[in-house]
Amino acid sequence: MNLNELTIKAARKLLDDKTISAVQLTTACLKRIKTTDKTLKALITLCEKSALAAAHEADARIAKGEKGILLGIPYLAKDNLLTKGIKTTAASKMLENYVAPYNATVIARLEAAGAILLGKTNLDEFAHGASTENSAFFTTKNPWDIKRVPGGSSGGSAAALAADFCLFALGSDTGGSIRQPASFCSVVGFKPSYGRVSRHGLMSMTSSTDVVGPITKNVEDAALVLGVIAGVDEYDSTSSPDKVDNYTKNISHNLKGLKIALPQECFGSDLSPAVREVMDKAISELKKLGAQVREISLPHTKYSIPVYYIITPSEISSNLARLDGFRYGHRSKVKVGESLNEIYLQNRGEGFGPEVKRRIMLGTYALSAGYFDAYYKKAQSVRMLISDELNETLEKFDVILTPTSPHTAFKIGGQDQDPLQMYLEDTFVSGPSLAGLPAISIPAGFIKGLPLGLQIVGAKRQEAKVFQVAHNFEQATEWHKNKAKI
Ligand code: GLN
Repeated sequence: MNLNELTIKAARKLLDDKTISAVQLTTACLKRIKTTDKTLKALITLCEKSALAAAHEADARIAKGEKGILLGIPYLAKDNLLTKGIKTTAASKMLENYVAPYNATVIARLEAAGAILLGKTNLDEFAHGASTENSAFFTTKNPWDIKRVPGGSSGGSAAALAADFCLFALGSDTGGSIRQPASFCSVVGFKPSYGRVSRHGLMSMTSSTDVVGPITKNVEDAALVLGVIAGVDEYDSTSSPDKVDNYTKNISHNLKGLKIALPQECFGSDLSPAVREVMDKAISELKKLGAQVREISLPHTKYSIPVYYIITPSEISSNLARLDGFRYGHRSKVKVGESLNEIYLQNRGEGFGPEVKRRIMLGTYALSAGYFDAYYKKAQSVRMLISDELNETLEKFDVILTPTSPHTAFKIGGQDQDPLQMYLEDTFVSGPSLAGLPAISIPAGFIKGLPLGLQIVGAKRQEAKVFQVAHNFEQATEWHKNKAKI
């Protein structure tokens, strides 16, 4: 086995007993990236020099006897997380050469823990999308079939992890962007509860749902990374002051008597028979493990997509207003006029791609006087209904189970001309985002050689419960052991 293929836990042991060094581990990852990223196109920026320097430093810390789960562990970060001295582009022409003056809190916490940043991964521009085809630079390929998308928007992170470029990766999830690419690439993707991880230094998309989370090779690794990045942050007033749990303590507790809810709306007649088969197998596996599974109804689920696609563009139109080419962003070289409006139009017209523009226009409309009540306010009221319904269900059940995605990875170019089709990608993942709940996608099977994930949603702050169910399922199955042949 090559060192870059190790899980965090396995690498930790080898680093601690000095069988391997952080420099060797980092070198193995860099070598893999250099040979394979020409094909995969998962990275926007590679940080070879700084990564090797950080690896030497980690080795020195280990030699001094320092302990820490992520000390000397190499990772990749989505390129909408600010990294001091390293470009952060959000995959947008708008920020093509932007270098942040400070680190996002998650990056700073990982640096303090001794994790090694290898580079920055591709995404849909400003995280708007579900395929990475909206990146202004290039589309990342799916390691299971390079003619297909890796999902998105954290597609670069999921593809890179699936191809063993790193030991873990960071993504961001606003309405599915960690979970859906995890499903398409057969890796573990975890979205924490809203506020569990600081958003400081994550480029804002939908501030009321944005959250940073890990993409890993197994469930336990996700729990370990979350333990390092979670916790209150004085720079983010929406971060939760609740104590951070020990996410691995009860991870192996068995599932006897645990209650799982299956929302019938997510298993309706429009679900493809192949996806249903994968889900049926997963459900019987969970029953074998002792869980009690019951069908329930979530009648407001069907409004998740319309509500999400009012709230998200509204918050985007406000959050991206700062990118006007003056303080931040692309400054046009073409001189079209003198007025401020003309200059804004030129800068923003050149800097933003079509999906970002579409969302800014939709959001501006939904927030405008005269339409605010009919769209934004209404969407917020229905959001409460969706949220209440999920929370009430999670008072009676430990977790809710759904497919992560309605299908496996689709072909590059297959639906990029159809924004509505693309928005339907979020069918199962947007509800938990609107409600701020923790949710994981784990490998659950294959359909014609392409992976499919299973989503487990927990009650607010019950991430430990989500990890427990996911870990038990993973240990009883072999899906996560399959590797993409790239
Ligand atoms: N597909 C969703 C969207 O386009 C999810 C994005 C995200 O979670 N960043 O908005």
